[in-house]
Amino acid sequence: MPPDVAPGRALLSVRALTASYRGLAALHGIALDVAAGEIVAVVGANGAGKSTLLRAIAGQMQTGGDIVFDGTKLQRLAAHRISRMGVALVPEGRRLFMRLSVEDNLRLGAYARHGPDRFGPLDLVYELFPRLRERLAQRAGTLSGGEQQMLAIGRALMTSPRLLMLDEPSQGIMPRLVDDILAAVERIRARGVTILIVEQRLVETLAIADRAYVLQTGRVVMSGAAREIASDAEVRRAYLGM
Ligand code: ATP
Repeated sequence: MPPDVAPGRALLSVRALTASYRGLAALHGIALDVAAGEIVAVVGANGAGKSTLLRAIAGQMQTGGDIVFDGTKLQRLAAHRISRMGVALVPEGRRLFMRLSVEDNLRLGAYARHGPDRFGPLDLVYELFPRLRERLAQRAGTLSGGEQQMLAIGRALMTSPRLLMLDEPSQGIMPRLVDDILAAVERIRARGVTILIVEQRLVETLAIADRAYVLQTGRVVMSGAAREIASDAEVRRAYLGM
């Protein structure tokens, strides 16, 4: 399936991507593009390979094929170097330091940055998530699910990413907060950060995405404008129960 971004416009370009767990293939040749400034959604059933795709881009597993970010091949680069190049992953389950304070979690997000402006992104994080500023001294483990997700996103923003990848940010969050999180994702994009998001909440996510890829057992089976994917009869039947 041809990717949908004009040649030369992709900030992230993935081709023939394969990845496996102890010999068991989880991705079978994925092609995907993300242009600068886009919100791109990756959707699909449990086990389709969505998390694996994000982990592969973040350098957390061995892969075959090509991953090119802003003209540089990411494969064989260590995860911390990929992070320094401007690729951040907010992992599924958030993985915060639950016994540390909100402020310490955020500051740890800047561990790889140096210089006087090291904690500069804090202003943006507080602007996006005023609740975090109100709870700076609180332990991360005492926050609500929604606040923990804000903190996980805030921590990723401390690396000043150009590409922010989010793995199921709505997981474990009260329904009324899901819209808040997705609205924050839109505001982050408005600040010039490109977004690649994996979500089970299809309707809400496709509403903020420009384009989407549908994954099935490690393959892209459909891609296109998010609006078209959202109205596709097969997608609605398979994933929306409609
Ligand atoms: P979910 O929504 O359930 O997280 P997903 O689309 O993100 O699903 P992945 O987690 O990427 O899917 O899983 C893709 C395949 O790889 C599945 O068959 C899964 O069982 C397998 N897999 C994922 N993580 C591991 C692991 N750590 N060890 C072995 N197999 C794994």
